[in-house]
Amino acid sequence: MEKITSETKIGVVKDHIPLKYNYTAGVAGDRFLQLLKQGKLQASQCTQCHKLYLPPKIFCKDCFSQLNEWKDVAEDSAYVYSFTSVKKEEGPRELIALVKFDGVEGGLLGRLKSSREEPRMGMKVRPVFKQKSERTGELSDIEYFEKVNY
Ligand SMILES: [Zn+2]
Repeated sequence: MEKITSETKIGVVKDHIPLKYNYTAGVAGDRFLQLLKQGKLQASQCTQCHKLYLPPKIFCKDCFSQLNEWKDVAEDSAYVYSFTSVKKEEGPRELIALVKFDGVEGGLLGRLKSSREEPRMGMKVRPVFKQKSERTGELSDIEYFEKVNY
């Protein structure tokens, strides 16, 4: 067998390998998605520093405590943190928003229901779930976020 003595003389074949990934949602993610399927929005809470996480985590990023407490997220605490407009070749323009909740770390991406009023950062919204029979335990169980006037 020939010994390789120079890395510049190594033969190279260029091609691509199509790979399909299946990611697990993880312990907290799985529970979060099962709750979504029930139409519930809960965050995991750190009992040491009282931070809330949504999407939920199983460890606090600040104090490393294991998070076993869950708390309902107040729907009236949701607001648009950022948004963008997307358009597929076929189909209407859609608004996608990063929605955050007062006092909660993180946020959720979702569709923003169009209205006559242009969306703006800080706009109060609320999640609207799909009909119970249509929910599948995915983030898309939140059909959209709609503007509210509190
Ligand atoms: Zn903590």
